[in-house]
Amino acid sequence: MTGPAGEGPRPPGPDGPYGAEGRPPDTGAGEDMWRVRVDEKACMATGICAGTAPGRFRVHDGASHPTSEIIPPAPEVIDAAESCPMEAILVTHRGTGARIAPEE
Ligand code: SF4
Repeated sequence: MTGPAGEGPRPPGPDGPYGAEGRPPDTGAGEDMWRVRVDEKACMATGICAGTAPGRFRVHDGASHPTSEIIPPAPEVIDAAESCPMEAILVTHRGTGARIAPEE
């Protein structure tokens, strides 16, 4: 009685080292970052954004400024963009440029 022929090491899969997605796992440090901008001409310096998203915006010189232009996804920044009465805050996807907030 003989068993099946021995199997050698499995060859690399057809999809490469990262499987069917073809890219490394998302670490949150690259393309999925967001870009936050404030239109200083539209901003009325109400401070609503700084109150809605503490630490994300700072009001000085008559306008709000993001403390960091490139940030990891942060729901409070969406809330700030949606709350701005002047729609002066724009949040986009850093990698694609797609608009995240405010909703059009
Ligand atoms: S909520 Fe809008 S108008 Fe008010 S400070 Fe922030 S960006 Fe300016």
